[in-house]
Amino acid sequence: MNLIRLLLLALGIWLLTLVVKRYLAAAGRKRGGTPRIGTMVRCAVCGLHVPEAEAVKRRDQYFCSAEHRDKASV
Ligand SMILES: [Zn+2]
Repeated sequence: MNLIRLLLLALGIWLLTLVVKRYLAAAGRKRGGTPRIGTMVRCAVCGLHVPEAEAVKRRDQYFCSAEHRDKASV
């Protein structure tokens, strides 16, 4: 009888960890639908929002591309 109880307990714990793992995975997917990209900045020419890491920066202005940076300097 004790062995059965132990087995049921182990099964219960296993199921619990399975559910928790699934829940955490689902929550992680929901939170990180897109990979972490940091701050979004706005292009000073077209207004497009681009990740700061991909933006072209000049002084205190950001641009979506080098073309727009050049366009702004004209
Ligand atoms: Zn732009």
